[in-house]
Amino acid sequence: MMKIVSDDELRFLRPQMNTKIPKTPETIINVYDREFWKRFWEKVNVGDGDQCWNWNASVDTNGRGRIAYNSKLVGSHRVAYTFMCGKIPEGMFVCHTCDNPLCCNPNHLFIGTHDDNMQDMVNKNRSHHNGEKSSKAKLTLEEVKDIRDMYNNGETQTKLAMKFDACQSVISRIIRNKTWIDKNYVSPKWSRNYE
Ligand SMILES: [Zn+2]
Repeated sequence: MMKIVSDDELRFLRPQMNTKIPKTPETIINVYDREFWKRFWEKVNVGDGDQCWNWNASVDTNGRGRIAYNSKLVGSHRVAYTFMCGKIPEGMFVCHTCDNPLCCNPNHLFIGTHDDNMQDMVNKNRSHHNGEKSSKAKLTLEEVKDIRDMYNNGETQTKLAMKFDACQSVISRIIRNKTWIDKNYVSPKWSRNYE
């Protein structure tokens, strides 16, 4: 069975919050990878030191920027922090002082705990429960294929929802071929849809 989150990451999970695992790009990003550096900063509107530097590419369901690196999606603010400030301590979040989820200005980023981050999200009314989520969700066809493959390889809907930053209901619909309908895709048996 594929293992997506580490045990350490799982310690930070709160199932009742339907929250996401902290992503840890510092463990997978080579900060000396010049190609990635270039690809990343090309997607940021870099301004003056006190301005917000907005991400101008793909965003997740919470309106935060994200970028693929080594076939993992990582938050753009986390990449910015890692590049400019260094390693993010394990299990910690990168939060915004400017309340702008797209901002990649390292001067506006600080390290916070899981609770800080959740409180922050609730305060900003961007949590998973406010109904904005599905309307803002943007998966790519490639991600949909990955979701179906991973599910067939034994990954649970819950973990897929966390990994792809989507509602479990969306994951379920993808797996059942009710959305992103693909004529050639055969959805698996129903018994695995409740786990
Ligand atoms: Zn900012």
